[in-house]
Amino acid sequence: GPHKDTPGVSGRVRVAVRLRPRNSEELTTDADFADCVELQPELKRLKLRRNNWDSDTFEFDEVLTEFASQKRVYEVVAKPVVESVLDGYNGTVMAYGQTGTGKTYTLGRLGDEDTSARGIMVRAMEDIFAEISPETDSISVSYLQLYMETIQDLLDPTNDNLSISEDPKSGDITLPGASLIEVRDQPSFVELLRLGEAHRFAANTKLNTESSRSHAILMVHVKRSVKESISGENGNSKSHTGRTMKPPIVRKGKLIVVDLAGSERIDKSGSEGHTLEEAKSINLSLSALGKCINALAENSPHVPVRDSKLTRLLRDSFGGSARTSLVITIGPSPRHRGETSSTIMFGQRAM
Ligand code: ADP
Ligand code: MG
Repeated sequence: GPHKDTPGVSGRVRVAVRLRPRNSEELTTDADFADCVELQPELKRLKLRRNNWDSDTFEFDEVLTEFASQKRVYEVVAKPVVESVLDGYNGTVMAYGQTGTGKTYTLGRLGDEDTSARGIMVRAMEDIFAEISPETDSISVSYLQLYMETIQDLLDPTNDNLSISEDPKSGDITLPGASLIEVRDQPSFVELLRLGEAHRFAANTKLNTESSRSHAILMVHVKRSVKESISGENGNSKSHTGRTMKPPIVRKGKLIVVDLAGSERIDKSGSEGHTLEEAKSINLSLSALGKCINALAENSPHVPVRDSKLTRLLRDSFGGSARTSLVITIGPSPRHRGETSSTIMFGQRAM
């Protein structure tokens, strides 16, 4: 990608890969088999095994082993994006990977019982609350599910078909009718996430589908009132300190965190009627996302955002001054080498 040639400047899409540890089943059933990948975090390299002798090597912006803590993952994947949102820019953090590889663990864990387990959403909000002034600044949250090109409000299940609107002048994307709830402290944010998860579960039970078939999208709007005093030679309203006092400016930033639908190829044979439609819709949005990310990585002037609702929603948080961070999640099992390989390819094309 373009940032490769510009040391010190992080590119538009930063890509990290995170390996999940073996689960108990993989520890027993696959005990005699090596992991399908080998990580070299200091070199920011990952080797994908082809067979017992050969492997292919890939480079990423960050390589996170099964020992990487949630804190470290937050710091490398999300913190720079959160900081730029606090400065008034838009930013996106996304997790892409096969179901069961740790997307929700990485992004959505609440860590009620163990604070070290908290995921990116909770940690991001904590950093935001630490930085803002409650008297002058405000934080509002929307939480959505995108399923089969339909946007559902996870904070108000009666809003089950939201539309996307784009301000023709500013280009800002809004969702008229979506709940936008002001949160004043961390506990109320966590309660909101919990409520959203409960609504998501209920909606998917009703639709007879699984959460791995839809995207969960958290939007955090940060509005700050920033007093800027500049030392003014040319100012005409100099105070006695010699500095020009300007009225406060409002800085608006938006953070979007996307827990993407599982990237696995859905077996079409023997699947129920609606599963084929689901598969098509998931493939549509993930491939549209892939195309947009490739366009950003290649610095292409044309980012094809119109192809899916997912990319239309992300439009004002892509490119330009916005920062995008992608974490691809993989499992160690040699059984899923094919899926792991295609996840790695998705990540490579984003760089
Ligand atoms: P996904 O959202 O991609 O389907 P999950 O986040 O639900 O995957 O993770 C699947 C399982 O693996 C869960 O039981 C989760 O707790 C566990 N898991 C995922 N990532 C890790 C990790 N880095 N360390 C320990 N357990 C993990
Ligand atoms: Mg999940």
